Amino acid sequence: MHHCHATGCKEPVPPEMFMCRRHWFSLPKTLRNRIWSTYRSGQCDDWNISKAYADAARESVHYIAKREGRVPDVAIYDLLDPRRMEQ
Ligand SMILES: [Zn+2]
Repeated sequence: MHHCHATGCKEPVPPEMFMCRRHWFSLPKTLRNRIWSTYRSGQCDDWNISKAYADAARESVHYIAKREGRVPDVAIYDLLDPRRMEQ
């Protein structure tokens, strides 16, 4: 079981869900669509994410953190971003 990717949220969610219901539905539809269209089934197990997914996920986490007045924690996407791996 994973937990919600919103910064500071410990809500448990199934692996195929990016965020808990509350956070997911507070994202703009355009961001939700980008997450879906760039998500690859199995990426949570092999940690191979696309650049497009890293960008969409990072933007989403920033969006929620800003709304909640938190400092966004996107370290995981910076770590997994393929652009970083290529360096
Ligand atoms: Zn959440």
